Amino acid sequence: MSRSPAIANRAAEFDVDAVLAAVDTVVLSAARPVALHEPRLGARERELVLDCIDTNWVSSAGKYVTQFEQMVAAATGARHAIAIVNGTAALHAALLLEGVQANDEVILPTITFVATANAVSHAGAIPHLVDSTWDTLGLDPVALDAHLAQISVRSNGETMNRETGRRLRAIVPVHIFGHPVDMAPLNAVAEKYGLVVVEDATESLGSTWNGQACGTFGHSAVLSFNGNKIITTGGGGMILTNDDEHARHARHFTSTAKKSHAWSFDHDEIAYNYRLPNINAALGCAQMERLSTMVEAKRELAERYLEVFKDFPNAGIFREPEGARSNYWLNTLVIDREFAGERDRLLAALHAHGIHARPLWTPMHMLPMYQNCPRSRLPVAEDMSTRCVNLPSSPFLAASEQARANKS
Ligand SMILES: *Cc1c(COP(=O)(O)O)cnc(C)c1O
Repeated sequence: MSRSPAIANRAAEFDVDAVLAAVDTVVLSAARPVALHEPRLGARERELVLDCIDTNWVSSAGKYVTQFEQMVAAATGARHAIAIVNGTAALHAALLLEGVQANDEVILPTITFVATANAVSHAGAIPHLVDSTWDTLGLDPVALDAHLAQISVRSNGETMNRETGRRLRAIVPVHIFGHPVDMAPLNAVAEKYGLVVVEDATESLGSTWNGQACGTFGHSAVLSFNGNKIITTGGGGMILTNDDEHARHARHFTSTAKKSHAWSFDHDEIAYNYRLPNINAALGCAQMERLSTMVEAKRELAERYLEVFKDFPNAGIFREPEGARSNYWLNTLVIDREFAGERDRLLAALHAHGIHARPLWTPMHMLPMYQNCPRSRLPVAEDMSTRCVNLPSSPFLAASEQARANKS
């Protein structure tokens, strides 16, 4: 079932030097060390940020916040986009806005960045960890359905975990490394069990599934514009939704629930100060102008990795799932199972060689604060987390981008 390279290409030894040579032929003359993912900032970013300084509009009101929201809404096709200070805060607020309450359980993949689980904890809820698929690395809807059939029970219109007695409230699929989760079957499972879907689309701005953008499949979704993401605002995030009333509430709830009035300071619920400052949004506007160029460059880079590692013995590059057009946020080398033990030797050699590769995140169920969380069987996560290595994926590493930079 695994997408490992063909058996015919197996060699008896894992050739670390051959991996280094292959990566060199992809990243070409890029200055060493080569970072995993670097932002690209230029004259346009400088211009818009200076405009904030020159006009004194640096804080959480200002034209760039609105403009940035409109650009992201237009790029994704979401009806509403609400700019937030960072992706973790966006997910925290999004979960509360969807009615997640203290002691609820929220389903998420154990393979994710820790922020997904932390946001659930910040909401007072308990992460319920589930498995991924081999071909998306993201949440497995079929396995989830089987798991829920076993552990859940309907009671007073709610879905309860019969083993813990807690309410199951939401599912947070994560589009890992930009590769879309198979959302149609996942939404069907969510509907069957009365759970709300909040997409963690923090890694997948610019990715689509059958032409539909990641971040528009759930009732709401979150993006991140951290420094290592596909576009950056320094730090930043976004909540997306097509629901007008939900969007209104999201805006209100993340800006201290202040009732709109010319001078009076009146608030109608306990809320958050989570809105994105104008100076960060200015960066975001300049970055959004580059989004499609960045996605093209990253897809070109991924093609190159795929080509160079095509007949490679004992490892291969993870390819976007069928039907998906991935932003290939991070390229991933998947080592054949029998050579998983070579991963750390490979990572050490890559670093010594000036290539800042890294392993998959430690799965959530292996972190001390989440090791006792409820969970399903996790065979794919347990296997894949031992043998994936992310390779440098900055858009400027694409050959055409390097050629252009060398000319100018
Ligand atoms: C980056 C990221 C986040 C959090 O975003 P921040 O802006 O860094 O807070 C959440 N989930 C995943 C999967 C991420 O990769």
